[in-house]
Amino acid sequence: MMRTYARAPVEFVRGEGARLWDSDGKQYLDFLAGISVCSVGHCHPDVVEAVREQVGTLTHTSNLYLTAGGVRLAQRLCESSLGGRAFLCNSGAEANECAIKLVRKHAHGRGIAGPEIVVLEGAFHGRTMAALSATPGLATNESFAPYLPGFRVVPRDDPDALAAALGETTAAVMLEPIQGETGVNVVPDSVIVAAREACDSSGALLVFDEIQTGMGRTGSLWGYEQVPARPDVLTTAKALGGGLPVGACVTSEGTADVLEVGDHGSTFAGGPLVAAAALAAFDVIDDRELLRRVRELGGRLCDGLGQIEAISEVRGRGLMVGARLDDGGAKDVASAALAEGLVVNPIGEETLRFLPPLVVGEEEVDEALEIIRRVLG
Ligand code: PLP
Repeated sequence: MMRTYARAPVEFVRGEGARLWDSDGKQYLDFLAGISVCSVGHCHPDVVEAVREQVGTLTHTSNLYLTAGGVRLAQRLCESSLGGRAFLCNSGAEANECAIKLVRKHAHGRGIAGPEIVVLEGAFHGRTMAALSATPGLATNESFAPYLPGFRVVPRDDPDALAAALGETTAAVMLEPIQGETGVNVVPDSVIVAAREACDSSGALLVFDEIQTGMGRTGSLWGYEQVPARPDVLTTAKALGGGLPVGACVTSEGTADVLEVGDHGSTFAGGPLVAAAALAAFDVIDDRELLRRVRELGGRLCDGLGQIEAISEVRGRGLMVGARLDDGGAKDVASAALAEGLVVNPIGEETLRFLPPLVVGEEEVDEALEIIRRVLG
């Protein structure tokens, strides 16, 4: 394998619910869930059953043909959110590629020759070239230059700066309602309202990257349900596949037909196998009681973290939580937690990120808090 990751010295061999086991048989509490992928928990029986059934029936036909699973998944995505159409794909970055192509084509349709997309400081939209170009913190690495033109960066917390950045050539504003990869930073409501208003008055589209905030993570099926604006386009991936790789770009009715035959494609995307897994994951997550518990347990986790002296700030929504460490050292703290049997994610040296499976129990939240207290104590 290429050395593109600084991997932790542990090999996980089995998972169940919020638990993982390594090759020595040691058990861990997983408060990262494969970076918010295993939201239904590891090996959820309904997902396992759906995949078992499908893998012996039909796994792949290509997108030259419709399959029932792909159609049902697209329908479920659209009916639960923006009501237009879905393009199914294989990852978060691909979902954003689709959104970027869509808003550029929409802008060209309005006569804009050089469309611009406004993105926020601290954003993370993925590692493919267009998604990377939309990610200000990474698009400075000269090793991969030249980046795609047509992205304008504004501060995360300044509604006036955002409004001022939109002009006649703006195709879209693209943002995560909560920035996950750069430390669980909640985008202020004022910025989201400014983005919606500026898009409405200029004719630009509002795109929410819900790859991390979507599929129940923040305590509503979609993150936008808890902020004061609805996007025109949303992207999702991660937890959508119940552990299998699937993503989607979902549109409003008004933008449903922007991409047409020949405009976009992917060989594997939305095949019967991943669609079966995603539909099973949808059944688990699109459940009022589960979403209520995500909010409740998120509150419990935040309260517990807030009482730990070494933690100066707790941020997030639902079970997407970041804790700022007074004295830094997040990487050492995460390593110490791993040795104690808790998987958490350090972001830089100052933040610990918690993304447990949404099916986690109260006792497991308390157990994780106890380990963090011990490690920080
Ligand atoms: N967008 C957001 C908000 C993400 O958190 C991520 C991944 O962490 C991506 C896009 C990229 O997703 P993927 O790694 O599936 O390409």
